[in-house]
Amino acid sequence: MEAQSVDIIDIHSFGNMNDVVLSHLFWDAQLNFDSRTIEASAAWTIDNKNGADKLILDTENLTIKNVTLDKGHKTTFELMEADPVLGRALHIQIYPDTKNVVIEYETSPEASALQWLNPQQTAGKVHPFLLSQSQAIMARSWIPCMDGPGVRFTYDAKVTLDKDLMAVMSASNPTKKNDEGVYNFSMKQAIPSYLMAIAAGDIAFQGIGKNSGVYAEPSLVEAAAAEFEDIPQMITDAESLYGPYTWDRYDVIVLPPSFPFGGMENPRLTFATPTIIAGDKSLVALVAHELAHSWSGNLVTNSNWEDFWLNEGFTVYFEQRIMELLRGREYSEMLASLSYQGLLGEIAAITEDGRPGDTRLKVNLDGRHPDDTFSGIPYDKGYLFLRNVEEHVGRERFDGFLKTYFNTYAFKSMTTELFEELLEEHLIQGDEELAEKINLKGWIHTAGLPESHPIPVSSTFTELETLSDSFISSGDVSIIKDASEKWSSQEWQYFLTNLPDDLNLNLMSALDAEFNFTNSGNSEIAADWYELAIKRNYEEAFPAIEEFLIRVGRRKFLTPIYSEFAKTPGGLARAIQIYEKARPNYHSVSYNTIDKVLGLVE
Ligand SMILES: [Zn+2]
Repeated sequence: MEAQSVDIIDIHSFGNMNDVVLSHLFWDAQLNFDSRTIEASAAWTIDNKNGADKLILDTENLTIKNVTLDKGHKTTFELMEADPVLGRALHIQIYPDTKNVVIEYETSPEASALQWLNPQQTAGKVHPFLLSQSQAIMARSWIPCMDGPGVRFTYDAKVTLDKDLMAVMSASNPTKKNDEGVYNFSMKQAIPSYLMAIAAGDIAFQGIGKNSGVYAEPSLVEAAAAEFEDIPQMITDAESLYGPYTWDRYDVIVLPPSFPFGGMENPRLTFATPTIIAGDKSLVALVAHELAHSWSGNLVTNSNWEDFWLNEGFTVYFEQRIMELLRGREYSEMLASLSYQGLLGEIAAITEDGRPGDTRLKVNLDGRHPDDTFSGIPYDKGYLFLRNVEEHVGRERFDGFLKTYFNTYAFKSMTTELFEELLEEHLIQGDEELAEKINLKGWIHTAGLPESHPIPVSSTFTELETLSDSFISSGDVSIIKDASEKWSSQEWQYFLTNLPDDLNLNLMSALDAEFNFTNSGNSEIAADWYELAIKRNYEEAFPAIEEFLIRVGRRKFLTPIYSEFAKTPGGLARAIQIYEKARPNYHSVSYNTIDKVLGLVE
């Protein structure tokens, strides 16, 4: 396989990326927790390869104070009119020989990527906390940049903040606080802007093995390290599949519960929700997922957000392969079955919503924010498509192909079209029968699922269905009690999500009395139970649901719970009451979604 380069066409960036190359960033920043702003200078090293007279960067809500070129030469700049999706283009006059552009600016307290938490929102309750989430197009709200996944650069940073706090980034990181409150960072591997990340707060570190460890608030760091003790083995397993880990260290930071996602694959430092700490390592597949992004996504990157499935579909596939090595095939088949069940539900819901086109792998984002189409489709349909390829060409050949693919396209951009070409050239090779089975068009460019598709089979779940049926017909909770002593979190999830919607309230009470789902410390189990509780109007769970919605900001849990409430007028009224208290605790990606779910915006 020989690397081909692709033209970068990105409808979500104003950047003139095909004329000017941004090669390196030096970011010098002061974090101001009181005003919830960052005062910074972004010094870009550029290669003006076509002699352009302008450098065009993306910004959102930034106040630009001054721009200079090379050795402090003044230049002119203009912030263009704001676009509701893309923010404002920053036009800077440059010259054919310009090498450096330095922008002094300040962020807004409303910067979409940044979440400033007050002490009450942290575990320690004493210090404030800052976290960022730049994907998909929010890096521009804290750094003026060409904010598209097709542009890569290296960076160094110097961050100044209160002496009580420590900062970490998607870069080489400190492991303890210093007396100056000044931290230096270096990211030597080129990354796209959506992987720019910062967190700051009362943060401690604990190592796990030689090249990995965990950051968290001091009271959580020990539990987090115990939960994630399999990380070194995961890295070994991942490398055995698809080649060396190229980012030096792999650490995870466990953030306060307001973090909007399960995890974010910021290079060297995965950002994670505390809701995966269940105490029994039952939800750590999420770490395998974020680790897998070190290859799919961070190394070989979708060229723009319409190719997002290339990042996520490959990563779910890779995640399941890591979990298969770590816990066995039956375990990864349980994960695959849950993913398949979720996929069928999502396809039905999106189709019913009148957007069947959004169930294609390659989506059309013309005039839309990338987050508008966010769903499980790129993840779970992407996974199933790759599993379909694996099953038809054989695992050994497919692994060989993938290993070469990651190696050849490391630190490069990938488009759906180029990936299709590579599959045809290296795997299909003119074999018409195979081409029909792999069915590129049916999977990638057609809505829904092709009629012929792999169906994951878990014998554990099949047995569980029989038990569940006899529980429902007899009403005898002891049937579940005896069987469930060794159930994993996945078995509980399968059990709960497959209970009938009209489950009798007496049975719900009996289950709750026995297993205390309403107060479960396992967030996946609790969230599934809450959905059912709202469907059945099981009021005993409502105080716990309210507490959960106020404390946790992870969108994956919020969306189904609020959506379930919104189905009835009474439920909607209750949800809006809770939301008034909860919304200030959410990151913009979560409240923008829930505003829509509750009909508060168009
Ligand atoms: Zn992912």
